[in-house]
Amino acid sequence: MSGLFTAAFLRRIGWDVDVFERSPVELVGRGAGITTHPELLEALENSGAGTRDLGIEVPKRITIDHQGRVIGERPLRQILTSWDRLQRLLRATIDPAHYHLGHTFEHVEQSREGVRAHFAEGRVECADLLLGGDGIRSGVRAQVAPEVQPIYSGYYIWRGAPNEADLAPQTLASIFPYFVFFLPERQQVIGYPISGFNNDLRPGHRRYNFIWYRVGDAQALKHMCVDETGHQHEHSVPPPLIRKDLIAQMRADAEIIMPQVFVDCLRRIEQPFFTPIYDFCAPRITFGRVALVGDAASTARPHMGFGVAKAGGDAQALADALDTHDDVDAALDAYNAVRQPIGERIMLHARKLGAHLGVDLRTDEDRGMWKLLQDHEAMMDWIAVPNFLAAYR
Ligand SMILES: Cc1cc2nc3c(=O)[nH]c(=O)nc-3n(C[C@H](O)[C@H](O)[C@H](O)COP(=O)(O)OP(=O)(O)OC[C@H]3O[C@@H](n4cnc5c(N)ncnc54)[C@H](O)[C@@H]3O)c2cc1C
Repeated sequence: MSGLFTAAFLRRIGWDVDVFERSPVELVGRGAGITTHPELLEALENSGAGTRDLGIEVPKRITIDHQGRVIGERPLRQILTSWDRLQRLLRATIDPAHYHLGHTFEHVEQSREGVRAHFAEGRVECADLLLGGDGIRSGVRAQVAPEVQPIYSGYYIWRGAPNEADLAPQTLASIFPYFVFFLPERQQVIGYPISGFNNDLRPGHRRYNFIWYRVGDAQALKHMCVDETGHQHEHSVPPPLIRKDLIAQMRADAEIIMPQVFVDCLRRIEQPFFTPIYDFCAPRITFGRVALVGDAASTARPHMGFGVAKAGGDAQALADALDTHDDVDAALDAYNAVRQPIGERIMLHARKLGAHLGVDLRTDEDRGMWKLLQDHEAMMDWIAVPNFLAAYR
């Protein structure tokens, strides 16, 4: 997302940009749901990608109890989209001649005037700037700031997106149209509708994005990262390799913990997968002629659903800085001064929201936040709500 956003914004101010993606094939079919925010819609419009057929608008959020009864509600119109839809809108802004699949960044050499980027496949590219939009495990960041490492939060998410057509009538009527919370102790279950395969927005063809936060320390995570073949992975396990016994245990727990409507969702997910939650913020996001954007610069826990909005904001700020400074180095300093503190603020805000899960509550503020977020009304007011950054301005 950040690579495509950056290319789109820089092209708008007259730069020639090439995007190098390590995947050898187009990145399609990633099912994950994405909460949108006004900042994301603005970045999509300003980048030229637009917001056509972006997603599904929910009219409100509700919280349900173990019996599936509604115990709280908030009117809040919000558009829920998918990773796929955003990728396609942004991908369409780039001339295919400037989008290069199958190129894995390996290392960069830099001088005062520019960079030489080396790719594992053998290509070498010279440019004025190298922008690392290569995600939380950024290879670009590993070279320019190897000491900056993502930190495990102490919790992870089980995820999946069942087809609308497979869900029971009661699930469709009671939770499908809404942004829904179910909040057992030290857990969060969140659901919302997203488009179906190929951005199908027609009723009957959509999906329901399911997310279940659970606590697990580093040792438990290490055990979860042993795959079906016995291989130990470092950070997470590719979905098809997740151990069957883990999935069976998770399904058994859900039968006890969850209301019937969420059990129904989970039963209809063929291949649930887990994502450990990490965060970090680099103290600097420019290094000579190298700049970091999106998750490579800072990654927040996903409680605000703001990562793609942040990627768009980074890209726009970088283009604004380059457009308003004659000197590239001064522009990069300006970009760092504007966006590094925002990335840090977002990361810290997400940690506050994570206090709901009760992990590592060190300060009075952490404990106060934990107490506040035990109330489902507060959760509906804080989690993934628009305009949270305004409170810090
Ligand atoms: C559980 C979960 C839920 C989320 N929910 C939301 C949400 O609701 N709303 C929201 O806005 N955000 C959400 N996010 C965050 C969002 O997914 C990220 O912030 C966003 O994808 C970051 O985009 P990015 O382009 O910076 O990084 P990535 O999406 O990680 O993209 C990095 C790209 O770089 C490529 N790459 C990596 N290494 C190399 C290399 N060496 N050479 C070449 N290419 C390379 C990768 O293949 C990939 O295409 C969520 C995240 C998680 C984990």
